[in-house]
Amino acid sequence: MPPKFYGLPKIHKVNIPLRPIVSSIDSITYSSAKFLAEILSPLVGNSIHHVVNSLEFSKLIKNKRVEEDEELRSYEVTALFTSVPVDKSLEIIHTRLQNDPTLSNRTTVTPQQIIKLLEVCLRCTYTFYQQIRGAAMGSPVSPVVCNLYMEDMEQLTALHPPIWWYRYVDDTHTKLKKAHAQEFTDHLNSLDPDIKFTTEGEVNRSLAFLDTLTLLVSPKDKSQKKDITGAIYHIPCQGKTTSGKCKDSYIGESERTLKTRFLEHCRPSSTSSEIFQHIHIESPGHHVDLAQVNFLDREPRHFERGVKEAIHIRVNKPTLNRDVGRHKLPKIYDPSRVRKITCPKSV
Ligand SMILES: [Zn+2]
Repeated sequence: MPPKFYGLPKIHKVNIPLRPIVSSIDSITYSSAKFLAEILSPLVGNSIHHVVNSLEFSKLIKNKRVEEDEELRSYEVTALFTSVPVDKSLEIIHTRLQNDPTLSNRTTVTPQQIIKLLEVCLRCTYTFYQQIRGAAMGSPVSPVVCNLYMEDMEQLTALHPPIWWYRYVDDTHTKLKKAHAQEFTDHLNSLDPDIKFTTEGEVNRSLAFLDTLTLLVSPKDKSQKKDITGAIYHIPCQGKTTSGKCKDSYIGESERTLKTRFLEHCRPSSTSSEIFQHIHIESPGHHVDLAQVNFLDREPRHFERGVKEAIHIRVNKPTLNRDVGRHKLPKIYDPSRVRKITCPKSV
């Protein structure tokens, strides 16, 4: 069966452009691409720049300092999947496989055979349409190829590299010296003629990245965090267990200030609060700390805040949440359904 080509509307962008998807399920290269993704996946993410999700990211940059002469900046690759150069990617992946001492634990196939099969999967254009460049969005192996290509690219050979560079697929959060921002942007865009980075700086001392918003708070008004309204927040338990720190946590949202909502969770009359239940009933002695609350997002609109909360709960699976949040996400977001759709044979 040939792959199916369709477009997904990017509703957050002007004029609602379509994201092209080539769904390769049941196509002749599907099983091979899936096999390759399993072999290549362990190579991804062995980099200090790699971010797994927005919660991990918010922990990474929490309480980090940004000096007067520094700024936060995000970089995004324009159409990474359809721009990634196939030849160069094959070369990079070949080298990574040759230097991987654990490859023989995963497969008996040689690096050269893997690259041959990968080339077939990336270049197979069937009879109906032709992909001129890049890796098809919708093939199981494409995200791995894009990640490995980006990892090679971000070995940041710049004269003045950023102080941090945290990347999730094609989206990057950086901190750099204001004086070096333009030079670094030019450097990124000179690395590969096919790969173009767009960049955004701070707006009102905040920067959007993935589904988070980084707020810059100066030390003298650090108390501002507790005064944030309309927040989606993550409260990790600070208690101790026999095996170390308690891993339980809670994600919630409120239109009121973070502090008001936090105190509400803890006070004795809040018997229905999941936090109260945990620290007073299930695990007496455990406690929570307002200073340790992670600020995940901010959304003043009621409905939209509920949707964001539900997404954060769905992605991060906080152990103390009893339900899916105020908003019920449609079933299409259900990970088990997604898995059923993308790999019908293994379910
Ligand atoms: Zn606890």
